[in-house]
Amino acid sequence: MTKTCTVAIPTDMRDVKIRNYINGEWVAPTTGQYLKNFNPATGQEIAPIPDSNSTDIDHAVRAAKAAFPMWSAMPGVDRAAIMNCVADLIDQNCATLAALESQDQGKTVTSAATIDIPKCAAYFRQFAKYVTEGIRETESSVKLGCTMSSISKVVPSVQKATTQHVASGVAALITPWNFPLLMVCEKLAPCIAVGNTCVVKPTEITSVTTYLLTHILQAAGMPKGVVNIVFGSGVNAGEPLVKHRDVRLVSFTGGCVTGAKIGSLAGGLFKRVSLELGGKSPSLIFSDCNLEHAVTTHIRGAFQNQGEICIAAARQYVQRGVYEKFLEMFRKQVRQEICVGDPSNPKTFYGPVSSKQHLEKVTSYIRLAQEEGAKVEFLTNPNDPAVLNVSTDGRMTIKGFENGYFVAPTLITNIKQSSRVVQEEIFGPVVCVMPFDTEEEGIQLANDTQYGLAATVWSEDQNKLMRVMRQLNSGSVWGNGWLAWDDCMPFGGMGCSGTTREHGPWSLEFYTETKALYTHVL
Ligand code: NAD
Repeated sequence: MTKTCTVAIPTDMRDVKIRNYINGEWVAPTTGQYLKNFNPATGQEIAPIPDSNSTDIDHAVRAAKAAFPMWSAMPGVDRAAIMNCVADLIDQNCATLAALESQDQGKTVTSAATIDIPKCAAYFRQFAKYVTEGIRETESSVKLGCTMSSISKVVPSVQKATTQHVASGVAALITPWNFPLLMVCEKLAPCIAVGNTCVVKPTEITSVTTYLLTHILQAAGMPKGVVNIVFGSGVNAGEPLVKHRDVRLVSFTGGCVTGAKIGSLAGGLFKRVSLELGGKSPSLIFSDCNLEHAVTTHIRGAFQNQGEICIAAARQYVQRGVYEKFLEMFRKQVRQEICVGDPSNPKTFYGPVSSKQHLEKVTSYIRLAQEEGAKVEFLTNPNDPAVLNVSTDGRMTIKGFENGYFVAPTLITNIKQSSRVVQEEIFGPVVCVMPFDTEEEGIQLANDTQYGLAATVWSEDQNKLMRVMRQLNSGSVWGNGWLAWDDCMPFGGMGCSGTTREHGPWSLEFYTETKALYTHVL
């Protein structure tokens, strides 16, 4: 079934108060309280956010629970038709969504319009397609023959066995601020595709586009209660959602500290939980690689989206023979090509970091590196007339955006592996570049943090490339590249970077319960 759909969404959020979306209606938070929200490029206030609490959460979970029998029983093709309509409406409103994502988050309009928003639509289409094709929708027969012979003598033999895949119930989807709408859609699409209903709690830092999504969901004909969105803080809204007795599964993306808390809360209440957490991703750049390609890619890996990417190439280890050359090329190219400033200007490579609080965090790490005696360089373009000043801790003053939260492209060298700057996630445009000698040493350094989300290896020697890639403790490893992506591949981390895999079939697995059905021959 193909639906034709249209929607009018707000195009200017400066004077709009965000509302919760519960049971298909927009409602104010029961507290009557709102959180302040700022455009990080200008420091000006935009759309205040409901400071929701456990009562709002309870209303939303009840609505999701009531909608579950209807939605989970609906034929997959009908759910898919609504999801495809959501995808079409996201595409139709791409320019508005991208502009407002940029005003709320700080990322460039270009990257929002070419990456974030199209991928949101793509997730809805991908999972609509899965359910249309019946993948993980109903039952699959199982090839038998694994029973140990000693046991098969004392238990009746099995004639037929199937696995049944059922929706879990009400899901809690909790998301971070670096890819605001994208993170919501990445969870929402597989979750509802297989028949769950949900309550989304987006981050309080960047809620605008998730609010706009409520208009799209309604226009697409999403039945009441299937998707409920409650805005607010982690403590007041997120935690009651995780703890709510009627929430069956929790999918969380965010920082490690929050992830640990949510993991223990949800686990203690026997809820399924998926944790997609932070990273401090290493690159091993061997002297026999294509250095030009490596430098260009590592500049993108370090500074794209202001470095606010969980898989950012934050620790770059370069083999000593090409270390100085790499740095020389890196410095020159960043100064020439990385333009920081107005996120709506297509020439801008990156904009402000997402919030004042985050600006303080990023610059505190820069100060720490300086205190520890590392070499800290701010690689701004000396010929860019928009750059009015760079302070000693990397804050930039940009002409026309004097109150924005800008940080200079920051290169840190001469730093110890044990430093917090190397070991902890900074999540800003700050990169540590360090030398290594042997393959063994490189692998040891790359694996030497609590994280394990992503890594890259660079060499023209294919045997070495695969050998090293296999030894890195990371959920994703790229050889001679970064961020090549396929949504049918698993994504997730090891150690402090997370516990699960999502995307494609792995998401379908997480969002469904699998039952084993046996028919015995008596
Ligand atoms: P965060 O952990 O501070 O917040 C994430 C979400 O959790 C927000 O919605 C927040 O309100 C909520 N929250 C906070 N405390 C909570 C609590 N006690 N109970 C329930 N919910 C709570 O993370 P952030 O600062 O918004 O995002 C940045 C982090 O996200 C970085 O560490 C980044 O690496 C990570 N991230 C990981 C991935 C991935 O796929 N692995 C992707 C994007 C971002």
